[in-house]
Formats: sequence, C-alpha cells, structure tokens
Amino acid sequence: MEVRLYDSKLSMNNKCEEMELVKVLAAIEMYRDLDFGGFIIVDGKSYRHCMYNREKEILGVEPVELNEEGEEIDYSSDFTCPYCGAVNHDAWELSDEGETQCGSCSSEIEYERVITIEYNIKPKKCAPVTEC
Ligand SMILES: [Zn+2]
Repeated sequence: MEVRLYDSKLSMNNKCEEMELVKVLAAIEMYRDLDFGGFIIVDGKSYRHCMYNREKEILGVEPVELNEEGEEIDYSSDFTCPYCGAVNHDAWELSDEGETQCGSCSSEIEYERVITIEYNIKPKKCAPVTEC
C-alpha cells in the first residue's frame, strides 16, 4: 500500500498516483491489516485517512495533530473534534446532546449544546432623584 498526501483534484481525476508520496508500506494491506477510517502514523507523523483507492492500493491522507487521548473541550463556539481538531460546521444540525462521529476522522464524540443568554440594555427613564 502507498500512503500519499490527499489532493482532492487529483483524486477526482483518478490520478492518485500523482499525489505526493509519504511512504510505501509494502507489508501493510488495506482491509487485511487495517480498515479504512481513522489515523495512520508514518515515521512518527500522524495523518488521517481521506480516501483509499482499492485498484491502485493508494491511501490518501492529510496530516493532523493527533490527540489519541482526546481532550475535553468546554464552552467552545466551534464544534471541534477532540482527537483530530477538525471543526464540524454543520453541528447546528445535531440534536441538543448526544453522540456523533467526527466527519473527518470517524472518532466517536459525546457532546451537549450549551446555550448562553445575553441581554441588550437601553436606558429608558431614570427613577426620581431628590437632591437635598
Ligand atoms: Zn476527528
């Protein structure tokens, strides 16, 4: 299997073999040694799986800052994956709380939506003031 840096244009044009080579992993075979989805660490660097071309045996990957333990994220305005750091811009479509999978790395995530309330305040009429 070849690991190459994912390029959506080359992938769409079925030219995966032109993507930049990360490494040839001769001993590793997709669907025998691993399944598609998740991360791969090559020479100490972390990547997430983006695409796999079965015919050419090419795994397209993207470098990520992998946090295998995952970190709790509190009160974040972005729905950020605690494992790969990808932001889910469609998180508003999710229910108020539950579990979901990261669309980028397929890790499982638990979440709850926190709604904060803010006020806009305008002066209208001051209470009577007695000056002595
Ligand atoms: Zn992720």
